[in-house]
Amino acid sequence: MEGNSGASPGARVILGSVVSFRDDPSHLGSRRAVRYYRRGAVAIDESGRVAWRGHAARLPRAYLGLPVDDYQGALVLPGFIDAHIHFPQHRMLAAPGSDLLDWLERFTFPEESRYASKAHARAAADAFLDRLAQHGTTAAVVFSSVHRSATEALFAAGDRRRHFIVCGKSMMDRNAPASLRDDPASSARDTEALIKRWHGRPRSRYAITVRFAVTSTEEQLRAAGALAAQYPDCYVQGHLAESSKEMTLVKQLFPWASDHTDIYDRFGLLGPRSLYAHGIHLSERECSRLSATGTTIVHCPTSNTFLGSGLFDAKHLGRRDRPVPIAIATDVAGGTSYSMLQTLAEAYKIAKLRGHVFTAHELFHLATRGNAVRLGLADEIGTLDPGRWADIVVLNPSATPVLEARQALSRNLEDTLFTLMLLGDDRAVRATYLAGRKVWGTVPATRHRPSVGR
Ligand SMILES: [Zn+2]
Repeated sequence: MEGNSGASPGARVILGSVVSFRDDPSHLGSRRAVRYYRRGAVAIDESGRVAWRGHAARLPRAYLGLPVDDYQGALVLPGFIDAHIHFPQHRMLAAPGSDLLDWLERFTFPEESRYASKAHARAAADAFLDRLAQHGTTAAVVFSSVHRSATEALFAAGDRRRHFIVCGKSMMDRNAPASLRDDPASSARDTEALIKRWHGRPRSRYAITVRFAVTSTEEQLRAAGALAAQYPDCYVQGHLAESSKEMTLVKQLFPWASDHTDIYDRFGLLGPRSLYAHGIHLSERECSRLSATGTTIVHCPTSNTFLGSGLFDAKHLGRRDRPVPIAIATDVAGGTSYSMLQTLAEAYKIAKLRGHVFTAHELFHLATRGNAVRLGLADEIGTLDPGRWADIVVLNPSATPVLEARQALSRNLEDTLFTLMLLGDDRAVRATYLAGRKVWGTVPATRHRPSVGR
């Protein structure tokens, strides 16, 4: 992390090509859904929220005296929201498991066991949040390990560094090594203590976290459901219908259930604040039930291709008569990149293989406002509308020689964004701001007597 004059908190103006979304382009069409100010400005107030955004030439007089971070030529967007990522897997990307279950046993569980150490978790929390900032991710829905102290460490680091963190301690009391198992009573007790300490702080929220049905007994699932009923404004997160071997295992463990979704349903774990990663192998019955309960499926494209889990079918899930709400995420470290740009590129390719074409506008919307809507947080994050947190990523659309050459052919914003997501990664992230404070990036030309919009 660098230190420079631009890193100090406080009111300021950011200049660049401002892109934000007022609605989903797939519903409203790009023309009406996208807010684009080619020579744009975002004014940030002392509290770290957006005070104003629009054409730089129309910047209100009240903001003319503020310091200016000048990124003209770059894109200024709301920071990316990663709707599913694993903190204790932050350094084990690209572990070559043969499938989900093999990957869990051979690589993931041993690595997660290290988070029993408080010192290890504290250092890892800083490294993990550095990585998010470096990739322009300003908010994340995070799986912690089974350990309460590791979860505390991440919340504390997020609070100190102003990352917007939704997180929960994994509840898992079977089918995992002893070092990673809790029990129904202790998992409920630890979860409740963490909720009381962290949920509802300005930029922290709690997610009741069940890894997947395979690693929880019915007694633990019941405890999780009771917590969800007791704390209805907390989130619920887990994994669902990721691999075919998992489905076979679920059938053996829960012979009474019609499917994996039915198990979560039976214990009160579906609903508009529930998010389940993957949803690749869902029956028609499950899609209808997820739709009826408003439960979100989080698409994790680089994870699905890496582990060979299957090809997500966005078009099928989004069917108009029973739409299943969709979010998007990296799923590091099943996922192979922290970059939401790379994640969008993989989602584009998977959709293509399923006979569906996403536009860049649709995908950038999904990674910003779309994910915020799924979290019920669109009044807080995900756009650059006044009153929202000034969580911002500045992207250089021509960051590499390959990008630069290709962008010479881009004719409009859709072209520019499309090229950026297919060919871009963290090298394209010029700066990241958390609640108005620059925490990552190159030094912009900060001017103290601005003449913006000329
Ligand atoms: Zn996951």
